[in-house]
Amino acid sequence: MKRIGVLTSGGDSPGMNAAIRSVVRKAIYSNIEVYGIYYGYAGMIEGNIKKLEIGSVGDIIHRGGTMLYTARTEEFKTEAGRAKGIEQLNKHGIEGVVVIGGDGSFQGAKKLTEAGYPCIGVPGTIDNDIPGTDFTIGFDTALNTIIDAIDKIRDTATSHERTYVIEVMGRHAGDLALWAGLADGAETILIPEAPYDMEEIITRLQNGHKRGKKHSIIVVAEGCESGVAFGKKIEEATKFETRVSVLGYIQRGGSPTAGDRVLASRLGAKAVDLLLEGKKGRMVGIQQNKLVDHDILEALSQKHTVDMDMYTLSKELSI
Ligand code: ADP
Repeated sequence: MKRIGVLTSGGDSPGMNAAIRSVVRKAIYSNIEVYGIYYGYAGMIEGNIKKLEIGSVGDIIHRGGTMLYTARTEEFKTEAGRAKGIEQLNKHGIEGVVVIGGDGSFQGAKKLTEAGYPCIGVPGTIDNDIPGTDFTIGFDTALNTIIDAIDKIRDTATSHERTYVIEVMGRHAGDLALWAGLADGAETILIPEAPYDMEEIITRLQNGHKRGKKHSIIVVAEGCESGVAFGKKIEEATKFETRVSVLGYIQRGGSPTAGDRVLASRLGAKAVDLLLEGKKGRMVGIQQNKLVDHDILEALSQKHTVDMDMYTLSKELSI
């Protein structure tokens, strides 16, 4: 293999730049050329492809977002769309592609591999919802952004003796809500993976209030319920003054944490190694702090699981 491509696709996440840098530098270190495919699969179809040099990825390791930009395109889900993408890859002499993104992007990578282009997926999403890896690039940064926000909300919650409901991202996975809730001592955590008992939640809030607690923090994953709707229910049931904060897109931005930069650097380089070993249709990941790789679709057919022991612990600690 003499020339590879790299793209970011789907939702962006902090640390994608560090992953791009790692792919580019590892490729050049290994004496192969590397091309940036801009705007994900949309850019592949349009031929928005440029050669990257060592300096192209200088000064980006600490930046959020993605220097290659990202996009979503329905056209790539069709065979005709993918054929256009392949035509462009051929035109540029690209022999393998590193795809940095979430599960949708991985589906595209698998289809491209089946059409003859070796692809390797690098998991980049703040939701931490990709099976086959303990952590995805961006999760740690988003988590720290959430904790920073909750710490601030906690100050005002104490001053006003209010209940605060904080809605965080996570359509299918409760990881962000669970980790943030545990890290911030939330009274209640709502995740899509576990049913909740409204009566138990109300009793817990009331008991805390009786004990003289000045505030209560409830963290809700968006995939479980709307924070606004849940806040209304809580206020009606407890009569405690309740406020809702939907953290939204601030969770996706910002400078990546050290953890995400290191993870991105390790995973990006591993993806290049796999291409050079002639592997294809694989995803890279980290499990028990060891770099691993799995067949993409086999991995995606597994269900991502949230750590239920941590969920139980969060309840035990918020008595
Ligand atoms: P994410 O990668 O963050 O999960 P999406 O689900 O939006 O984001 O997927 C990103 C892009 O990947 C889509 O816009 C599309 O171009 C491509 N893609 C998603 N699913 C498929 C599929 N089944 N086949 C081919 N391409 C796909």
